[in-house]
Amino acid sequence: MTSSPHVTIIGAGLAGLAAARALHHAGWRTTILEARSRVGGRAYTLRDGFAEGQYAEAGGEFIEDIHGRMLALVQEFGLALDPVRGMDEWTRRLALAGKHGEADEVALWGFDLAAEIEQMWRELAKLGTAVPDPAQPLAAPQAQELDRQSAADWLTGLALHPLTKQTFTARLRSEYLAEPHQLSLLELARWGALYYSDPEDEGASFRVRGGVDQIPRRMAAELPDVRLGAVVTAVQSNKSRSWVSFQQEGRQNSIETTCVVLAIPPGPARNITFDPPLPAAHQTMFHKLNCAPVTKVMIQYRRRFWEEWRWRGSLLTDLPITCTWQPTMSQPGDSGILTVYTGAQAGADFSAMSDQGRIVTAVTQLDQLFPGSAALVSHARTIAWLNEPFSQGGYALFKPGDVTAYWQMLRQPWERMYVAGEHTAVHQGYMEGALESGQRVAEEIKKRWN
Ligand SMILES: Cc1cc2nc3c(=O)[nH]c(=O)nc-3n(C[C@H](O)[C@H](O)[C@H](O)COP(=O)(O)OP(=O)(O)OC[C@H]3O[C@@H](n4cnc5c(N)ncnc54)[C@H](O)[C@@H]3O)c2cc1C
Repeated sequence: MTSSPHVTIIGAGLAGLAAARALHHAGWRTTILEARSRVGGRAYTLRDGFAEGQYAEAGGEFIEDIHGRMLALVQEFGLALDPVRGMDEWTRRLALAGKHGEADEVALWGFDLAAEIEQMWRELAKLGTAVPDPAQPLAAPQAQELDRQSAADWLTGLALHPLTKQTFTARLRSEYLAEPHQLSLLELARWGALYYSDPEDEGASFRVRGGVDQIPRRMAAELPDVRLGAVVTAVQSNKSRSWVSFQQEGRQNSIETTCVVLAIPPGPARNITFDPPLPAAHQTMFHKLNCAPVTKVMIQYRRRFWEEWRWRGSLLTDLPITCTWQPTMSQPGDSGILTVYTGAQAGADFSAMSDQGRIVTAVTQLDQLFPGSAALVSHARTIAWLNEPFSQGGYALFKPGDVTAYWQMLRQPWERMYVAGEHTAVHQGYMEGALESGQRVAEEIKKRWN
C-alpha cells in the first residue's frame, strides 16, 4: 500500500493513537511522532515504588458507563474493569466549614444536606435541558446568553443552603478544574445534558484493572511506525505536501507527508511553528484556550485506616486538597492508596509547590481530618500537570465566552492540518473524548484524501 497517502500524527495520546489506528486499519500509512519516551500522554499509570504491587492513575482514571469507545477497547483487548459507585460516591463524605462527616448526618450539618445535594443534581438536570443536543451547543436556543454567564451566576440564583453550594463548588473544582466564575454556563449546561440528564440514575464508573495505560500501549503495539522522544517543532506545507520537523536524540529530522494530525493539547501546540502561519482564528484559539491546573498526590498507607472510619476514601472538601478517592478499592493488599485530586485555584497553588511540599501538604491536611494517618504513610508520588511541558494542564477549560468563540473552530481543518484531542470533543475532558476526536479526524481524512 506504499502508494496510499501518508498521515503524520503529532502526539501518541489516546486521540493520536485512535486516529492512527483507524487509518491503519483502513490501509493507510501512518507515522506517530511522540515527544515523551512513552505513549498514552495523560493516560498514565504509576506503579514504581508502591508496595504490594499496587498502582494508581496519574491522569485519566474513570470510565463512565456512557463511554462506549473506551468500553469497546477494554473488551477488544480482553481487559477487566473494576466498578466504582456512581455519583453518590463523591458526595457521601464531606469536610466543609470545619465540619466533617456523612452528607446525611442532619444533626452535624443542621439541615438535610444529602437531600439538598439530590436537589442540586435535579437543578443541574434542569439546566441541561437548555442544551437539547450536547454535541451542538451553539444550536441551543439561548447559547449566546448562557455562554456569557458563568456557573457562579447560576449557583447564586439557586435557593439552596450555602454548604450545598460549597459541595457543588468542590465538585466543579475537581471535575472541571474550575472556580465557578471561570466556567461557561453553556458548558455546564452541556455537561448537565450529557452526564446528569436523569438525576435518579447515578450512573456507573469503572477503572481498568491493572492500569489504564494498557489501552494506549496495546493500541500503539498494532501500529507500524510510532517514534518516541520525537518532539515536533515545525510544520511546513505547500499545495501538494507537508513536512513535519522534529527533534529526536539531539538530531533535527523531517518527514514528508500527505497531511498532518495535530493531536496535542493547546499549550504545547503554541510551541510549534507553522509555515504558512495558522489562520488568525486558529491562532487566537490556541493562544486563548488552556488546560486547567490539576495535581494528584497518590499516598500509600501501610494499612487502610479509612476502614476504621467506615469511609471508602472518597471525600469532597472546601480545604485546598479539594477531593480524594481510593484507587486501591479493588486491589489486594494490606496497604492502600489515597489519591488527593486538586484542581482550579488550589490546583494552581499546589502546582507552584515542590513535589515534596505538595506531598507534605496533602498528607498533613488528611491528617487533620483523620488524626494519626500521617504516621502510616509508606510512599507517595505526585504529578502537577501544569508543569508537564507536553501537557501544560489537566484538560481544557471553557471559560465564559469560549464555547461560542471556539467550538466550531476547534474541529475545523486548515490546509493539510487536522485537529484532534480531548479539547475538540463532545466528551471533552475525558479519555472517551480523545478517542472520539481521533476517530473523527480519521474519517475526515479518509473522506478527503481517498
Ligand atoms: C489528572 C487528570 C485526571 C483525569 N481524569 C480523567 C478521568 O477520570 N476519566 C477520563 O475519561 N479522563 C480523565 N482525564 C482526561 C484524559 O486523561 C484526557 O482527556 C485524555 O487522556 C487526553 O488525550 P489526548 O490524546 O487528547 O491528549 P494527551 O494524552 O495529552 O496526548 C497528547 C500527546 O502529545 C504529546 N506531545 C505534546 N507536544 C508534542 C510535540 N511537540 N511533539 C510530539 N508530541 C507531543 C504528548 O506527550 C502526549 O503524549 C484526566 C486528565 C488528567 C490530567
